[in-house]
Amino acid sequence: MTLHSQLLLEVPGIRHAFLTAAESAGRDRAGELDIKQVHGAELLALDRRRPQGRPQVDGVFTHLTGEKIAITTADCLPLLMASRDGRFIAGVHAGWKGIAQGIVENSVRQFIRHGIAPADVVVAVGPHIRACCYEVSAGFFPLLLTTPGGALAQAHRDSLFFNAPQRPNPHSAAPREPNGLWFDLPHFCELHLLAAGIRAGHIDWLESCTYCSPQTLGSYRRRTHYPAVKTQQISWISRDEVFC
Ligand SMILES: [Zn+2]
Repeated sequence: MTLHSQLLLEVPGIRHAFLTAAESAGRDRAGELDIKQVHGAELLALDRRRPQGRPQVDGVFTHLTGEKIAITTADCLPLLMASRDGRFIAGVHAGWKGIAQGIVENSVRQFIRHGIAPADVVVAVGPHIRACCYEVSAGFFPLLLTTPGGALAQAHRDSLFFNAPQRPNPHSAAPREPNGLWFDLPHFCELHLLAAGIRAGHIDWLESCTYCSPQTLGSYRRRTHYPAVKTQQISWISRDEVFC
């Protein structure tokens, strides 16, 4: 079932959806801006013409009407963002690499550049892998510390990493790593959103775990454990043609 964010529904002139894997697979993407997501920190600011080719970016920011900004994910966080007045939108693909490199801050910076204070931006976060399933190796934390997001990870280590799965259910990933830790990826994203000035009350968490939802959502991690046909989720946002 398509998910919607109440916070985004309250923004004037905005349409959006977080699609299931089946809905995403059957979707006609003709005429849509095509980006190649690379787990980086760059966004495309789309303010007039579309660029040539397929830009390698992990987010698109625009004020244009009629442009559907679509993000593809399969464990990473899809962020759909809008200024509260509905004049600016962004779609962002945020995995741990991109978050650690600054994709969240770069996204908020686009709004600031156009005169929108972070306090006037709302963010909806679609399905992603959660700490019930996201086990990382013992070497992950030291690696994270070497990234631009390392200081924030160091300061919040105790709320980001756990010695056991958090609130597991029968669909959750079984432990596999020697001395593995469970990483709270959405909390890592939240810390960066808050550090960038987004208000906690302006973040809408649609909390389904991709790994735990084999009937409806694609999970890259789950496919590494149980080989299956590749499935992904599309999340999109657009400004209405009639809204100026
Ligand atoms: Zn899970």
